[in-house]
Amino acid sequence: MRVLRNGSKELIKEINRFKVLNIVRHQHPISRSEITKQCDLGVSTLSYIMEDLKNQGLIYEVGESSSTGGRRAKLIEFNKDFGSTISVKIEETQILVALTNMDAEILSNRSVPFQKSTSPEVVVDMIETTLKQLLTENNKEITDLLGIGILSSGLVNRHEGSVIRSSMLGWKNVSITDMLKIKFPNAQIFVDNNINGYTLAELEKGEGQENNNFLVVSIGAGLGLSVVIDRKIYYGSTGGAGEFGHTSIVVDGYDCHCGQQGCLEMYASEFYFHNKGEELMHAYPETILNTFQFSEVAEAASEGDPLAKELMHGMAKYLGHGVRNLINTFNPDKIVIAGEGSKYHHQFLDKVKRIANENFFEKVGIKTDLVITRLEDDAWLTGGALLAINHIFQEPIYEQMKAGV
Ligand SMILES: [Zn+2]
Repeated sequence: MRVLRNGSKELIKEINRFKVLNIVRHQHPISRSEITKQCDLGVSTLSYIMEDLKNQGLIYEVGESSSTGGRRAKLIEFNKDFGSTISVKIEETQILVALTNMDAEILSNRSVPFQKSTSPEVVVDMIETTLKQLLTENNKEITDLLGIGILSSGLVNRHEGSVIRSSMLGWKNVSITDMLKIKFPNAQIFVDNNINGYTLAELEKGEGQENNNFLVVSIGAGLGLSVVIDRKIYYGSTGGAGEFGHTSIVVDGYDCHCGQQGCLEMYASEFYFHNKGEELMHAYPETILNTFQFSEVAEAASEGDPLAKELMHGMAKYLGHGVRNLINTFNPDKIVIAGEGSKYHHQFLDKVKRIANENFFEKVGIKTDLVITRLEDDAWLTGGALLAINHIFQEPIYEQMKAGV
C-alpha cells in the first residue's frame, strides 16, 4: 500500500516546485505570467521556485515572445536534455530499445532479435548491452540516464516492477526491474504492459490532447485494451484491467490460450484467421493464402481473394460487437484503434463502425467516435519513455516517491 506523506512545509514546497516544473514541461515555451496564472502562487514563492529550477538546470529562459504591446516577456523553456531515458518494448522474438530525452523524443533506437521463449536473464543482458551502446553512440554518460521504462506483454505488477505472467514470452514472476537495478542503480525503473504504455503516448501526443475519457483498442496478433478515465489509466484491482480479449463473445466457442473458451481474441484478431481459415481452406481451393498472418490476409483481401475477404468480414463482425460492448460499458468520448492491424483499416473499419454504432447511446442520439490512431509505430517507445518520465516528474506525495529529481 502506498503511504501518503505527512503534511509539512517541506511537502508543500516540493508540490509547488513540481507543479511549476510540470506546467513548463507540458507547455514550453511559456511566459512567466502564464505560469503565474495557472499555479496561483505568490510572486516571491514563484521567483524562488523558478530560480531553484534554473540553478538545477531543469528550465532556462529563452528569447522573447511576440509583442502584444508593452514590455516583452522572456519565455521559459524546459531543458529536455536535463537527462536521458531508455525505453524498452519486449516483443515475442525481439526487443525494441530507444534512447530519448526528457520530453520523450526518440534520439536513437534499434531492435535486437532473439529466439522465442528466451529466458529473462538473457533478455535483460541484451537490454543492458543495447542500452550502453545507445548511450555511447549518442555521447551520453551512464549518469545521464535518469529512467528506464519497460513495456512487456502479459500481466504486470507495476508496484513491484515485475511481469507476473506472459504466456507470449513464457515468463512467470520475473522481477525485471530488480534485475536491471543491479546493473543501473541510479536510474528509476518502471514496467507496465504494452498497451498501457502506448496509451501514455496517446494521452500526451495523440487523442489525449482533446479527450479525457477514451479507450485504446489494439488489434493484430492479439486484442488489447487500455481504459483512460479522467486522464488516468484504469488498472483495476491487480493491474489487469483491459483484458478485453478474454471477454466471452461465443459461448462454447474456440479454445483460447488463456484456458477459457469463446474469448473475443479468438474472433477479433489474427487468431480468428488461423481458426476459421483452417476450417474453410478446403472450400476455397483457389485462395492465394498460405499462412494466416494479419498482414497476409489483409493484403489478399485487398486483391479480392474470396477466402481472405470472408475471414476479414468475419473478424470485423466480431470486433464490431466487441466495440459495441465497450461503448455500452464505458460510454467513452472516443475509441482509438491502434496496433499492427490498424494499418489495414480499409479492410474492416466501415463494418466495425456500422455494428458498433448500433449501441445503447446511439438510440438517444449520442454518437461515439471510432478513429484510427494518428501516432506512428514508434509511439510504443515514446510511451515507454513517458512511463519513466511521468513518474520522475510526479508530485512526490507518497513516501515511496521521495527520490524525484
Ligand atoms: Zn482467452
